Amino acid sequence: MKNSLAIYPGTFDPITLGHLDIIERAVSIFDEVVVSVGQNIGKQPLFTVDERIDMIKKTTAHMDNVRISYFDGLIVDYARKIGAKAMIRGLRAMSDFEFEFQMALVNRTLYPELVQVFLMPHEAYTHLNSTIVREVSSFGGDITSFVTPHVAEVLHAKFHKE
Ligand code: ADP
Repeated sequence: MKNSLAIYPGTFDPITLGHLDIIERAVSIFDEVVVSVGQNIGKQPLFTVDERIDMIKKTTAHMDNVRISYFDGLIVDYARKIGAKAMIRGLRAMSDFEFEFQMALVNRTLYPELVQVFLMPHEAYTHLNSTIVREVSSFGGDITSFVTPHVAEVLHAKFHKE
């Protein structure tokens, strides 16, 4: 796609190597990828939006076609507003499929022109999610194979120094 902008929405509480894997795949297809941090009604995040954005910035600093933003409300409305042609989602194990399928159909009804792209991470990350990372870190476990060293430090500070 030429001059294509894709949006990659999520909670990113915090960003993991699985998220990074998806972003790296997305930037190889699209000219620009906007990683967008959203509020999630069902979730009470550990990190503030600013903290999450800062961790994403540091994690993606090596890629110059990544932008980071915040959105609230419907993701399709935000995608339309910024002129995104595509929306990226990561697909891990089968467990993601049911939810993603449902969301995709709803989003397609709301905004049919938005192409939804599902990317699979490296198999090392197919069972990784932010909840597991937070839990392991809260009990003092080693999370260095799941997040960047910077994110590991921020998590450690959150749970063990405050
Ligand atoms: P989580 O499900 O970990 O709370 P997010 O809400 O931040 O994550 O997820 C944003 C998007 O990133 C979703 O499409 C989700 O499926 C995807 N994603 C999350 N973790 C991974 C991973 N380890 N590998 C691939 N995609 C992932």
